[in-house]
Amino acid sequence: MIPVSLETLPLAYVAICAGIIALAWGISAIRARKVRRAELSDLIQCAACGTLYPDPKSGELPPCPCCQHRNERAPVRMF
Ligand SMILES: [Zn+2]
Repeated sequence: MIPVSLETLPLAYVAICAGIIALAWGISAIRARKVRRAELSDLIQCAACGTLYPDPKSGELPPCPCCQHRNERAPVRMF
């Protein structure tokens, strides 16, 4: 058993609780980023106007439905 003084016990309790909350927040943020990335993987973002539209995955990429700009295949950047 580890000897702990009565003054350090509340501090250790708060530190452990804060660590658990930080770990849960980090796991939640990583999962949210994965879901967002999966949603954006099926979309193309127009380089001219920024409109998101579906990627047909095969064949030639269609022009932007908003401005008719011919885009190239590139992953959507997340900020
Ligand atoms: Zn466009």
